[in-house]
Amino acid sequence: MKTEVKSTCCYCGVGCGVLIQAEGERIVGVRGDPEHPSNRGRLCTKGATLNLTTDPSYRLHYPERRSERGQGTTRTSWGEALDEAAERFAATIRQHGPDSVAFYISGQLMTEDYYVFNKLAKGLIGTNNIDTNSRLCMSSAVAGYKQTLGVDAPPCSYEDILLANVIFIAGANPAVAHPIIFRYIEDARAANPDLKIIVADPRRSESAEIADLHLPIKPGTDIALFNGMLHVLIGDHLVDDEFISSHTTGFAEQAEIVERYTPEAVAEVCGVPAQDIVQAARWFGQNGAALSIYCQGLNQSAHGTHNNAAIIHLHLATGQIGKPGAGPFSLTGQPNAMGGREVGGLSNLLSAHRDLANPQHRSEVASLWGVQSVPDKPGKSAIDLFSALKSGEVKAVWIACTNPAQSLPNQAAVREALQAAEYVVLQEAYANTDTAAYADLLLPATGWGEKHGTVTNSERRITHVNSAVPAPGEARHDWEIAVDFARRLGARLGVDASRLFPYADAETIFNEHRESTRGRDLDITGLSYKRLDADGPQQWPYPQGATYGKGRLYEDGVFPTGDGKARFVPVRHLATADIPDAEYPISLLSGRMRDQWHGMSRTGTVPRLFNLEDEPVLAMHPCDMRHRGLSSGDLVRVANNRGESIVRVEERPGLKKGRAWMPMHWGSQFMNTPGVNAVACDATDPYSKQPELKHAAVQIEKIDLPYPLAVVRRCANQSEALALLQATRHALARYPYATVGLYGRKSPLVVLRAATAEALDDTAIGALDTLFGIDGSDGAIVYVDSKRRVAKKAVAEGGRLLAVRLCGETQAVTWLRQAMAEDELDASLIRFALAPLGKPPVGVAPRNIICKCADVTDVQIRQEMADGADMPKLQEKLRCGTFCGSCVPEIRRMVAEYAPTEAAAA
Ligand code: SF4
Repeated sequence: MKTEVKSTCCYCGVGCGVLIQAEGERIVGVRGDPEHPSNRGRLCTKGATLNLTTDPSYRLHYPERRSERGQGTTRTSWGEALDEAAERFAATIRQHGPDSVAFYISGQLMTEDYYVFNKLAKGLIGTNNIDTNSRLCMSSAVAGYKQTLGVDAPPCSYEDILLANVIFIAGANPAVAHPIIFRYIEDARAANPDLKIIVADPRRSESAEIADLHLPIKPGTDIALFNGMLHVLIGDHLVDDEFISSHTTGFAEQAEIVERYTPEAVAEVCGVPAQDIVQAARWFGQNGAALSIYCQGLNQSAHGTHNNAAIIHLHLATGQIGKPGAGPFSLTGQPNAMGGREVGGLSNLLSAHRDLANPQHRSEVASLWGVQSVPDKPGKSAIDLFSALKSGEVKAVWIACTNPAQSLPNQAAVREALQAAEYVVLQEAYANTDTAAYADLLLPATGWGEKHGTVTNSERRITHVNSAVPAPGEARHDWEIAVDFARRLGARLGVDASRLFPYADAETIFNEHRESTRGRDLDITGLSYKRLDADGPQQWPYPQGATYGKGRLYEDGVFPTGDGKARFVPVRHLATADIPDAEYPISLLSGRMRDQWHGMSRTGTVPRLFNLEDEPVLAMHPCDMRHRGLSSGDLVRVANNRGESIVRVEERPGLKKGRAWMPMHWGSQFMNTPGVNAVACDATDPYSKQPELKHAAVQIEKIDLPYPLAVVRRCANQSEALALLQATRHALARYPYATVGLYGRKSPLVVLRAATAEALDDTAIGALDTLFGIDGSDGAIVYVDSKRRVAKKAVAEGGRLLAVRLCGETQAVTWLRQAMAEDELDASLIRFALAPLGKPPVGVAPRNIICKCADVTDVQIRQEMADGADMPKLQEKLRCGTFCGSCVPEIRRMVAEYAPTEAAAA
């Protein structure tokens, strides 16, 4: 019997509600929850394919231990595993003190998981060494809100997007990173033709396509832009003097600072025309309800806190806060980074938005937890924590639900730190993340569809997440693992941990967390699991006695600061941490793609999510390419003094000269380097300690690897493809350039691309064929041209192409993978797989699937456009872009590109 269980999407901070369809112990489908107020039934491509990410072959099923680094693991029992961990942690704490151990956890955890980990570190062990990957994502937003508005609380709701008259998107690309937010923006545009949309982004991103004004500022010049806009607002008398005097402090000082930020001076710093800065400011100040939407582009910077403060100033100066359609709206990156912030899940925070530095707050938390005290020494934030592991100051680390061996910047240093650590515990749902290789103990945790608890999304909305299926193998919930460990550790440290951790279920933890919020800005004492189930997801604050949460904060103009007034903080433009110079002249930007999520441990298991891009392509400006003798498709080395990566380069629109862009998703599981984080900058913001992940100065040079090779292998099903993918990973190190990924529509494929300086000899080719299971001669056609060092092989099975291995000449791989994914190659066409220069047979046109929901390719769209279809007709006829809408910017671009071509032809 099929059941439907309410849950949320586990990817981004939009926090879309989903209905998980389960049959017995299997997830068989997913759809958007039409009753969830945040997404109203909509999902993007990633959310809509969540049911395809539950293949058990990638999961960690049992506790495993590794007796020696570099060796394999052996299965152990939960009892043995947790006793070992407790013994090692207790011994380390006894010998070196509580600060010799640390926890590094995740914005993917449930709020209840987070709460327990925080109490374990700060309450039981007595160390504040607990930080989270939210440090990489949201800590500048936290610090920016706190410095200006008093507390860490995004004041807006998604509904405000529909009510805005001007939307200012800065350092965010919701079209691909928060697609359902972008649907709101498109709805707002459709409902209000006078809506002005401004996008500030060094790259002409997918979101910029909808903008009335795009400001392609130089990387790291956000403060100069915002200060310049404030200068114009003041000069044009567009500030709200009454609001400023009644509800803010510090305006005069910041006004004096921005006197020097004339449009001309700012134009020079930001590299955008002065009149565009004036236009942006006037639209912001003249149109009424002004909403700014921002994310990692502001946060992931060595001055991220002041980036946030400077954009918030625009709202304080114009009084555009606490009103419908107005306010500074920071989008959360991870699904429950907000929940983590609520329970104080960072090394400088305490439960319910309390500050570690505040003695009163420490004492309140100690009393709530029933411990003598909470330590006052600040804990180590993410970057410092890994430096301390490397130096030996921290000796043992417990990592939960995150993958620092991919996601942290300056990977060489991070991996050295993990290698140097005396003891590493990894609590994970997946068996094969990059961090797993460094773990002495691997503990299997539940994943999406299995977990339960609560999560909070970007608009402060709490959703009760339910388990749809049981955990695979012996996997346990994250909070259960932490509680069990806490009790065993407590016994060894002489503490009655059963009293501190009495929880029998997640609801008991939620209730304790709820009590910690009483009287605080995020008071949720009126909420319970029962109420969330009965009334649906609710926004905080929701105090006892309330019947609904608060959609919009500060409507009364009173801010949670000592004097009730919001604060202007003095902010000035600062240079980026990594300034391009003669040695490293290119500004490398990193960003997200529509169909992948973070380090791909989940999205990387779904073949169709690779159809848009199946390798990490570096985008460059044509002048920079010409200067280096590069053509699209060439291989380049991207390097700086932190590391390097070899990737394929392409000329792509949207970048200014001197800037390049690379997706952040690919790491060592899908290529032979840690990807963009090999070179990413680990300088941090002084207030938030968030690293400058978004930007690095690099050199890019052509690399001569004249012998390309590629293998495309069709698999019977997803499990077979994942097993082959896993086996292939171990071979990536053999090649100077190598990526491996999936692809697929009807049939799942594994695609390997590599290149070498010397042609592979017969032994190496044989090893490759063996790896892909095509070493026999049955059904095989071989083409060898020794003079050109070309060696190709195609293998058919049952009249269908099973695999192609191409050495020395690989042009065919693009159309081959598409045709194989479509099952278009019957036996009569197989010989084309080996044809010189790899031309496709007539009738097999290269194609990309643009709309995954409606299964529509670019070829179909072009055919319709040739018959005169515009955007509405395409949507009506092919239904593309009418489901999740993630592909709408892509289709719009195709329509826009097609129109001028046609006009020119006429
Ligand atoms: Fe998931 Fe997409 Fe919604 Fe984000 S926007 S929560 S990735 S469905």
